[in-house]
This record gives sequence, C-alpha cells and structure tokens, in this order.
Amino acid sequence: MTDILNKKAKFIFITGGVVSSLGKGLASASLASVLQCRGFKVRLRKLDPYLNVDPGTMSPLQHGEVYVTDDGTEADLDLGHYERFSGVPAKRTDSITTGKIYQRVIDKERHGDYLGTTIQVVPHVTNEIKDFILSDITDEDFVLCEIGGTVGDIEGQPYLEAIRQVAYDLGRERAMFIHVTLLPYIPTAGELKTKPTQHSVKKLQEYGIQPDMLLCRCCCDIPQNEKRKIALFCNIREENVITARDADSIYQVPIAYSEEGMDTQVCKHFGINSDKPADLSKWHHIVDVLRNPEGTVKIAVVGKYVQLLEAYKSLGEALTHGGIANKFKVKVKWIDSEDIERDGADAHLNDVSAILVPGGFGQRGTTGKIMAITYAREHKVPFLGICFGMQMAVIETMRNLAGVKNANTTEFGPDCEPVVGLMTEWDKDGAKEIRTKDGDLGGTMRLGAYPCCLSEGSLVAKIYGTNKISERHRHRYEVNLVYEKTLNDYGMVVVGKSPDGKLPEIVERIDHPWFIGVQFHPELKSKPFAPHPLFVSFVAAAIKQSRLI
Ligand code: GLN
Repeated sequence: MTDILNKKAKFIFITGGVVSSLGKGLASASLASVLQCRGFKVRLRKLDPYLNVDPGTMSPLQHGEVYVTDDGTEADLDLGHYERFSGVPAKRTDSITTGKIYQRVIDKERHGDYLGTTIQVVPHVTNEIKDFILSDITDEDFVLCEIGGTVGDIEGQPYLEAIRQVAYDLGRERAMFIHVTLLPYIPTAGELKTKPTQHSVKKLQEYGIQPDMLLCRCCCDIPQNEKRKIALFCNIREENVITARDADSIYQVPIAYSEEGMDTQVCKHFGINSDKPADLSKWHHIVDVLRNPEGTVKIAVVGKYVQLLEAYKSLGEALTHGGIANKFKVKVKWIDSEDIERDGADAHLNDVSAILVPGGFGQRGTTGKIMAITYAREHKVPFLGICFGMQMAVIETMRNLAGVKNANTTEFGPDCEPVVGLMTEWDKDGAKEIRTKDGDLGGTMRLGAYPCCLSEGSLVAKIYGTNKISERHRHRYEVNLVYEKTLNDYGMVVVGKSPDGKLPEIVERIDHPWFIGVQFHPELKSKPFAPHPLFVSFVAAAIKQSRLI
C-alpha cells in the first residue's frame, strides 16, 4: 500500500450495467488510447469474476477467443483489444479471475500465512483483488481496470467491494468510476428509456460506488434533456453523461468518445489541464482508409467456431489490418468446415481470393479443413495455415502427395502415422518444460512468445525482413520432424524452426505462389498501426489473386 502511495498512477475502474456485451472492453481500450494521444502512459487490466482459473479450458463457442500474452498467460479477449488499441503488450499481471484469486487465497491458507484466522470473502478475497490491482505498477499515469460481467452478478460482488476500497484507500482524487450502460429505444413509444440505467446506478450505489461518468450505449444521439435527467437521477455531472453511439467500425470508437468529451472530462475529474485536445490523427487515418478503400478482396476462413465470430476476434482484426496496409477492404467469408465436407470445396471456395485455416482443437470438421487446403494447393490460391491449420496442411501433403493415408495427429488418438505428435519436452528460456500424456489440460500448452529462426532465402524471411522472429504460441502438439525429408520431397519445406532446431515452426510450399503454415499465432500481435507482416503479405497475395479471377 505505501508503495503505491509513492507512485503517480491514477486508477479508472470500468463497470458495466443493464446487459452484457455493451462494449466495455472497447470503451476501456478507446479511453486508454485517447489518453495516450494526450501524452499519458497507460496500462489496462481485466478482472474476470468467473470461477475458471483462466479461459484456456473454456469452449471458444462460449467465451470467444483465448488471447495469449508474450509471457504466456491465457487471457480474456479484451486483452487483445487493449493491446491493439494501446500498443502496450499485455502481461500476466494484467489479467485475473476469481479462480486465480481463490487459488492464491487457498494456497496461503494451506501455507499457514493467515496465522489461524477464519478466511472470509472480506477481507481475504477482496485484499487479494486489491493486491492484484495495485501490483506491478511503475511510472504509469493511468491504470484502467475493467470489471467483467454486469453489476448485480453474484460473482462480481467482491470485485466491487475491492475497487470501492481502493478508491477509499487512495482517495477519490486518484480514482474514478466509469459505468457503461444501455439506453434502449422503444420504437412504439418513440422514446429512449433511462430507467434501466437509473436502476443499474442504484445497484452500484448499494455497493458504495458512486459512478463519476456514464457511457450510455445508444442507437441514436441522446437529447440534452434526457442527459440532464440521467445526470440528476444518477447523481452525476451532466457533462459526464457520455453518449456511446453504435459505430460503423470499432476504430471509429476512440474518435467518437473523444468528440463526446470523454477524455476531457476524465482529465477534469483528476484536476488535469485538459485545454490541449488529444491528437487523434492516427485514428482518423485508419478510419479514412477503412471508409475509402481502393477495392475489396474476399478471403475465406475455414474453421469450426464460425457461429461465434468472437472466437476468431484477433484473426478478423489482423485481416482488417492487412487490408488497411494494402488500402483494401478485406471481406471475410466465414465458412464452417463441416459445410465443405457436405458440399465439396469448390461450392464454397470458388469465389474467394485466399484461404485461411485458423487454430483449432479436436477432430470434428478436420476433413473439411483438409479439403480446403487441397483446394488451395491445387488451385494455387494463397493459403495461410495457423497452428492447427499448419498441422492440417502438413497432414494434407503427407496424405495426398506422399501417399501416407493414415497420416494424422495424435490429438485424435494413437492409431495413426504420427505426423503431428504430443510435445513432451521443449526449451523455455534455457530451462526444460516437460509434459506427459495424462497431465492437466489447463495452462500446460506451449504458451507465449518463443523465438524462431527463418531459413535464408525463404518467402517468410523476405516477408519479415529478418531471420529471427518471436511469435506467440498456444499448442500442445507439434509437427514431427521425422517426416521433414518426406515433406521436402513433396514440395513442403520447413523454413522456420526453434533456435535448437527441434521444433518446426513454419512450412512453405515451393510449388505455390503463397502457401505458408505457421505453428504460432501471428494474429495476436497485429495492430491497426502496426499490421503484422504475414497478414500484409497474405492480403497482398489475395489482391493479386483477385486480379486473376
Ligand atoms: N490442437 C492443436 C494443438 O494443441 C492446435 C492448437 C491451436 O490451433 N491453437 O497443438
């Protein structure tokens, strides 16, 4: 506590009310970016009240994408928004869940650290949450902490109590509460309804939290008299009732919030001079390219979680970034790989200019992915295979070109030619990581950033403009180098390996204009201001292809 008192960081807590999915993560990321555009140093954190230790074992169809940080944390996809908008690499210390909090509390209890006291939600759980919020802070001006879920959730209560206490401990001049709510429009009455917002704020007040600002999600502008009403009933300054209108692009959101006065009011709250406005030129440039592209290119993503596009959040964004770099709009055709199994590849892929098979788990839908890869290979359509997509591309070459019909991954069982097998040992920063067949599933994959060496003269070395890269991983299985020679004989070359040469990281086809498979997830590091080179090149190849069809 005394440690944090000596630091300058101010804390902004973002909560949500009325309903979920209001874009709290985007609001947090946008505010952070706009504060950066005023010259401040920011940090973003996510506190998730669910009981899982991390989202790693949750279905992508339930929770969306699992974002992976450089230091190997599996975290909520909001950390992806944070990184993309702020450019600040997220860390292990930026993401917490109730599962992790309880794990820490129980570890301490078993260790005897509580010296015989009865362990309670208040103060032990709340103190652990406070420690998380206040930990690992250096010279940040603002630390933004987003609380997952919606006010009123049982799981969220300890978090609200903890942030109330942090504001109490630090003083209100170092803390601010922002609440994101919904103003529904009732067409039959022709009215915007403020009641749900009022109730939501009342609920927060029950926990001892008086919000300082409201971000009201709304399909239209909020008339001033409605803002005045909300302000009066919610005990908030009128200029701190901010309209959060639906935007045509997420990259418009920081501009829209800033125009509504969000950052000016945040500065005022903290007594910071707000006369000089934020320089948002970089956001204006992005929005301008998105609104006025030179053309459109259609790219297929063949996966099995396409019913919930949140499962491919970073991927969709990275493709957009690749488009921005090429001044093109990327239109993604999301295809369920099982539809390809049913209808054939041509039925779904004959109108696309590039094909991407993303990461994935489990056997269902893999036949369709392999059919898509065959189509890309045979029709010379640009192809990018990511993680599982790379593993499937290797299996495709082994089955369809090398004639090894039962080539497969041991992820689906032991009865196969193990072209892709379980990684049981690898090097991490000089130490050995060991895994066994029946170990725990949670948090035990090869996670986070690892270096990779690229072959001289390869397409990827040209794309990256260097021979040594670092990319983020999340996988348990790995292409088996025993088959390297056979793959080579059939046109697939391993062009990227771990520095010790033991783990293949990238493959390319030499008989194809653009066919690359990567074991890592390049989409996690792509940003609108720094599009990932692989996506820039992939989209460029797609544009070239589109001119051929
Ligand atoms: N299921 C594969 C593995 O664990 C691929 C994982 C992924 O695509 N992220 O190796």
